[in-house]
Amino acid sequence: MNKLAERIAALIAAEGPLSIAQFMTLSLHDPEGGTYARDPIGRDFITAPEISQTFGELCGLWVVQAWHDQGRPDRPRLVELGPGRGTLMADALRAIAAAAPEFLSQAEIVLVETSPALEALQRDKLKISMADIAWQVRFDESLDDRALYLLTNEFFDCLPIRQFVKTERGWCERMVTLETGELAFALAPLAADPSFIPPDRVGAPQGGVYEIAPASLALTEEIARVIADKGGAALIVDYGYGEVGFGETLQAVGGHKFAELLTAPGETDLSAHVDFAALARAVRSGGAAAYGPVTQCNFLADLGIGPRAERLMIANPNEARVIAAAVDRLVNPKEMGALFKALSIAPKTAPTPPGF
Ligand code: SAH
Repeated sequence: MNKLAERIAALIAAEGPLSIAQFMTLSLHDPEGGTYARDPIGRDFITAPEISQTFGELCGLWVVQAWHDQGRPDRPRLVELGPGRGTLMADALRAIAAAAPEFLSQAEIVLVETSPALEALQRDKLKISMADIAWQVRFDESLDDRALYLLTNEFFDCLPIRQFVKTERGWCERMVTLETGELAFALAPLAADPSFIPPDRVGAPQGGVYEIAPASLALTEEIARVIADKGGAALIVDYGYGEVGFGETLQAVGGHKFAELLTAPGETDLSAHVDFAALARAVRSGGAAAYGPVTQCNFLADLGIGPRAERLMIANPNEARVIAAAVDRLVNPKEMGALFKALSIAPKTAPTPPGF
């Protein structure tokens, strides 16, 4: 057991089993031993903006197009949730500066990041962009007074989920507890209130799993409310599913490989597939329109990743193969092209956002 596992075990011994959401939060965000206490990107997993600069550039152009389509609201706010190493924002700002300097000259830019280690990397990476950028640790009401253009990649997958398993006793929450001193999964003895289970999951077979990400749903609804009220658009890219399923998707990844979920908290990255249909419902409860999900492959192709990659290859002939291979990784359905999806939020009265 690592030190964080020992502390979690002590907490369970003192206070009883933890929900998976609580376990995920400790594993990811513990200030000493949590995954994001240091930089896991590249070591444990790799993300689209780190693979190819075209990803962040197209996200930047997406913002510019959505802003134009809505009549260029004054003093827009550009926000990124969970910016990792700051690469997506750096590439997006470069593209925005070239395509619409008048957006940047009025925009307020805010990065929402909980990890001090990653915030330091972002500050360093974005120094050269010369943009005026503010950091904060959560999306809150300070961001609800202007048109909001929001970007986020591989953020919702690491927000905490709870799991409920269909049993003869009803839907029982899966908890993290202790078994002979080791962290282990166990089902809560009492079934959850059935009204908690949405209608599309009620018919699950025995053993079927329902995953819910309460923090993701609340955050999505809040973002939708701001966009419905003040204008703007959000682009949420992540891996996940659009149809109802009954399987579990919580996973641990360390050193680019799948790992045990409970054995080394903080040394692996815990995440779960994003339930895009549930996010889209949260968008509608917030009073905005939801678009998608569309596959990352279709989304990037529609935004012109092909011509953009060609231009880069012509400008850097020695790198052409590397550029082509990186872009292929993003769009190939056997790699990230189909599993990753994009969802967009816009006001009901606004035109359809680009790529949807
Ligand atoms: N978007 C980046 C990084 C993805 S990793 C990329 O595509 O490369 C997830 C990011 O979300 C990290 O920056 C992590 O520190 C941040 N994060 C995780 N949970 C968070 C939370 N609850 N609030 C804000 N940031 C969070």
